[in-house]
Amino acid sequence: MEKAEVASRKGKRAEIEKSVLVIGGGIAGIQASLDLADKGVIVHLVEKEPSLGGRMAQLDKTFPTNDCSICILAPKMADCFGHPNINVMTLSEVVGIEGSKGNFSVQVLKKARFVDENLCTGCGECLEKCPTKGVQNQWEQGLATRRAIYIPYMQAVPRAAIIDPENCRFLKEGKCGVCKKVCKREAVNYEMKDAILEFDVGAVIIATGFDVWDPTSSSEYGYGKNPNVFTAMEYERLINAAGPTHGHIKRRSDGNEPKSMAFIQCVGSRNIQTGHPYCCSVCCMHSTKEAMLATEHIEGVRSTIFYKDMRACAKGFNEYVERAKKDYMVEYINSDATVQGSSSAGNPIVSYDVGGKSQQKEFDMVVLATTLVPSEKNKVLAKTLAVDLDEFGFFKVRDHVFDPIDSTRPGVYLAGYCAGPVDIPESVAMGSAAAAKAMEDLMERKVYA
Ligand SMILES: Cc1cc2nc3c(=O)[nH]c(=O)nc-3n(C[C@H](O)[C@H](O)[C@H](O)COP(=O)(O)OP(=O)(O)OC[C@H]3O[C@@H](n4cnc5c(N)ncnc54)[C@H](O)[C@@H]3O)c2cc1C
Repeated sequence: MEKAEVASRKGKRAEIEKSVLVIGGGIAGIQASLDLADKGVIVHLVEKEPSLGGRMAQLDKTFPTNDCSICILAPKMADCFGHPNINVMTLSEVVGIEGSKGNFSVQVLKKARFVDENLCTGCGECLEKCPTKGVQNQWEQGLATRRAIYIPYMQAVPRAAIIDPENCRFLKEGKCGVCKKVCKREAVNYEMKDAILEFDVGAVIIATGFDVWDPTSSSEYGYGKNPNVFTAMEYERLINAAGPTHGHIKRRSDGNEPKSMAFIQCVGSRNIQTGHPYCCSVCCMHSTKEAMLATEHIEGVRSTIFYKDMRACAKGFNEYVERAKKDYMVEYINSDATVQGSSSAGNPIVSYDVGGKSQQKEFDMVVLATTLVPSEKNKVLAKTLAVDLDEFGFFKVRDHVFDPIDSTRPGVYLAGYCAGPVDIPESVAMGSAAAAKAMEDLMERKVYA
């Protein structure tokens, strides 16, 4: 591994590793990796899922420009994977770290894919022939099913199949073996084992993003009871041309297009009872985007947004909301809202408050802007890396004013939603900032007399 020589405080020459570990292959981690790799730094990018991309890959369009999300992300995913200086490890997690700033030694657990990603061309023949159908597709938010061997999604990087050992007949019972038989490239390997990989790095960037809060446990929104109540992440997949309904917005109960839609914000956020008292910072804008997109998908649909406060503070955000009102006729109602039962037609009934008077209205479909929460895995990762979490469970920054990118451990930096609520442009800025901080550590050449 290439090393930069530095003079230590004692006058002895120490060496700094000229490589960086990035944990998380969402937009923040991708940006940090590309910035570093383009400057000649070796990057080890560790992603727990079978593909790079994170949440941005699941979105249909992005506010405030309404760009197609995967169209602007996919080239960066491919650049990352193909970059000679980036070692992408999917299905991988960090399990150990020793050392200090400039000289860390890390252990990564790489789980078996059971398909050699260097041989697999992503032709999909094995998927068609796999007899195990009907496995819930988590990437499609459970709105579609997949086989036991699958490619995570059309633009996945790497575009290689993966076998899910919990549902594969061969791995469970030693029967079947169809995918191996049909693979002309001989990429399927049932003998593949998990492996521990070790690397020396000079700095670490955490970019592990967020989880979406599951509203099933809440009695206030009818989620899981009324089939026509969706989460915003489910809705993002519904309106996506590559999604489970090929971009058609359909009710779960009867497959009909909704003619009236309610978007309820702050579901689970700014709420002490759910344990998430903070603002998730993106739901005012993504609900506005989703209401606009409903109009582009269904002529004449009426969309109503129920909001607590309109937090459209960044550049162009207020104009975006005004555009939704003026050009898309989106109605905004300043009220807490809940779903209280259903009509005989299965329409969710939204209960809200105007001028102190309680009101109820039926909608064909309700979309919940559920809050975004720290990943459950943060606790384990924080312990492994010996960094602190904040009171909510996000990674703690050393100083909100002067060190907003630094974790509580020198040489370990934070990018994106893992450090607290941010949108995509902010995640990109943090990715670049973390890369610059890591680079500073690698370039350090202090000479002490
Ligand atoms: C419904 C919805 C709509 C949205 N719409 C918009 C929009 O239009 N515009 C906008 O700007 N923002 C939008 N956002 C917010 C946007 O999704 C986030 O700002 C962005 O995804 C944050 O990027 P990230 O890289 O920090 O995190 P993520 O996208 O969550 O990526 C984190 C990555 O880290 C991986 N990871 C997690 N833990 C580990 C681990 N322990 N080890 C290895 N890898 C790990 C994950 O698998 C994932 O790939 C929306 C969010 C939601 C929920």
